Amino acid sequence: MKLRVFGRVQGVGFRPFVYRLAVSLDLKGYVLNSSKGVEILIQGDTSSIEKFIEDLFHEAPPLSVIDRIEKEYVKSEPYSDFTIKKSRKEEGFVFISPDIAVCEDCLLEMRDPKDRRYRYPFINCTNCGPRYTIIEDIPYDRPKTTMKKFKMCKLCEEEYHNPLSRRFHAQPNSCFDCGPSLWIDGLETKDIFKEISELLKNGKILAIKGLGGFHIACDATDKEVVSQLRERKKRPHKPFALMMKDMDMVRRYCYVSEKEERILKSPQSPIVLLKIKELKDIVENVAPQNKYLGVMLPYTPYHYLMFDYIDFPIVMTSANISDEPIIKDNEDAKKNLGHIVDFYVMHDRDIKHRVDDSVVFVENGVFQIIRRSRGYAPDPVKLPIKVRPALALGPELKNTFTLAKDDIAIPSPHIGDLKNKETLDVFEETINEYIKLFKIEPEVVISDMHPAYMTSQIAENLKTYVEVIEIQHHRAHIFSLMLDNGYTGDIIGFSFDGTGYGDDGKVWGGEVFTGDINGLDRVFHFEYFPIAGGDSAIQHPGRIALSYFFEFMPHLAKKIEHRFTPFEIEAIEKMVKAKKVFYTSSLGRIFDLVAGILGIMDKITYEAQAAIYLEMLAMESDTEKVYPFVLKDDEIRIRPMIEAIFNDMNRGMDRAFISRRFHNTIVKIIHDTACMLREKTYINTLGFSGGVFQNRLLLHLLMEKFKEHDFAILLHKNVPPNDGGVSLGQLVMAKY
Ligand SMILES: [Zn+2]
Ligand SMILES: [Zn+2]
Ligand SMILES: [Zn+2]
Repeated sequence: MKLRVFGRVQGVGFRPFVYRLAVSLDLKGYVLNSSKGVEILIQGDTSSIEKFIEDLFHEAPPLSVIDRIEKEYVKSEPYSDFTIKKSRKEEGFVFISPDIAVCEDCLLEMRDPKDRRYRYPFINCTNCGPRYTIIEDIPYDRPKTTMKKFKMCKLCEEEYHNPLSRRFHAQPNSCFDCGPSLWIDGLETKDIFKEISELLKNGKILAIKGLGGFHIACDATDKEVVSQLRERKKRPHKPFALMMKDMDMVRRYCYVSEKEERILKSPQSPIVLLKIKELKDIVENVAPQNKYLGVMLPYTPYHYLMFDYIDFPIVMTSANISDEPIIKDNEDAKKNLGHIVDFYVMHDRDIKHRVDDSVVFVENGVFQIIRRSRGYAPDPVKLPIKVRPALALGPELKNTFTLAKDDIAIPSPHIGDLKNKETLDVFEETINEYIKLFKIEPEVVISDMHPAYMTSQIAENLKTYVEVIEIQHHRAHIFSLMLDNGYTGDIIGFSFDGTGYGDDGKVWGGEVFTGDINGLDRVFHFEYFPIAGGDSAIQHPGRIALSYFFEFMPHLAKKIEHRFTPFEIEAIEKMVKAKKVFYTSSLGRIFDLVAGILGIMDKITYEAQAAIYLEMLAMESDTEKVYPFVLKDDEIRIRPMIEAIFNDMNRGMDRAFISRRFHNTIVKIIHDTACMLREKTYINTLGFSGGVFQNRLLLHLLMEKFKEHDFAILLHKNVPPNDGGVSLGQLVMAKY
């Protein structure tokens, strides 16, 4: 009998597992990797074959994911034994494993003075180590990885060919004698890990090459070096992620639930946003005004070896220049990071595909992914629909693309904001790599409706070769949520974010839809309000407040005028009067508006900063009060709320109280809209997507609020609620 196993079955120890299973059941035949999956020919008695197939499903290696098994009865010569045959190239695509944090078995060996890999910084096996980041082509075999330049020594070679070894066909297999090495550029040293710790202790900033690119590292307890890093990186406020030695260290600073601990220690090993218990010696400037810390544990063997000498948390932020893609090559690092770092820790295992650290959080027990990259990409998402071979380009910010065929979608790792040439180049390069690796030749390309997005321009250029279809941004969010949940039925979808191009040419971002996988009708939206001054206004929450007041409540504009220069006031007033503004229904902008009224910050330096600060403030109050609002026709009208917020402020109410009351109001708006729509449409399923739902307080309050109701609630599972998830939803346009 011939079996074809589809799914993530390569680079995860699947063939040795099949070999051992077949031998234990006294079956004959072979197993091989093809570019479609794993092919197995088995001969033997029927009951053993049945047992074999059963165990194939239930005993498969931990990192493998079996999508399906096809069986076929074939005539073949009798085999006298069971063997692992050479890989074969065929048409079709196979899943590629993401990169996996070093496993327990390898760590034990690395700690064993008698082991030949004692303190070897690149120890790995079929259950752990680099995968996607080193693959140049499939089938996944050593000559098609960046490990091809390292010729295995005799001992490694033996392990590699021994089906009973944990390193059987572990493509990155290596040791001190034959593998990659780690060094500090320009520094001769006996114990490199001791040296790294000395440099960090002495307030140096280091570039450290990881699995998917370089990190910039420094001592998170050293006030001076953290400010220095902020200055050099021109990143005044955006939080830095930290790497901590172990769970004991994490618990010293943060609250950690069982689920959060499991995720921290998982093979994906992402950055988990944890609630701060007490900062202690960590400098506040690591995550200014934030109640959460982004924390990860060591995930490469050499991270562990570094922490042998380090007993403080270190900043580990992606090495890039102002939001460009993460730097992955040694030469690039030296060329581009010179003004930021003092030393480079490098290795010579080349990174073929860059991946950033993934970022996740757990709220009310629910896992949410914010940045999907290392450990998760390029895992596929199984679709509840069938699609033509398609490429969905995503929107613009925090961008990903998704390649898909039939019922399989493969979202790319996080690529970044497509606002500069470097990011765009990486975007296009990654698309080409994906097409090559997964052997999907797109027949249709889907892009956002926004005429000015880079992705729309790419789509425009492709029009001569393939069919191009556009989709509205906020519908794509809701479709993304549905596909992410394997759901195609009726839904009331709340699509709340910062910015997206609407059907009517206005800037949407506070939209409520009803419908199903075949189409979504916009049934509610926040009342449009004007923003004067284009993109730069978005960085100045105060100006958003001023233009709002000029339009709707001129008497209040007078009362905040003292915060602005006469030039600003005149310019904004003129623009509002002449309607030289853009109109928006964005809830993200309403957060800015509220922050602007409260005078919380003059200028933001990273996306959603004002909204995040409001969320943090709101966590300090426990009021249950709400502000008034009106649901009329298809509009959510918040003028009464805005006026009341101003009055609260004027009366000297605490800003935490106002922020919390504002959050409560948004929850009430969602609640009332949902109930009203259910009465009208009998739809009982609610969905939340869009960047606003990264607001954990809002999410928490929503989940609490809807506990009393019997709505079915959909939240994202595999892709982010923010724009990083949009490309998945765009695929709906390629539906058969
Ligand atoms: Zn391992
Ligand atoms: Zn070796
Ligand atoms: Zn969006």
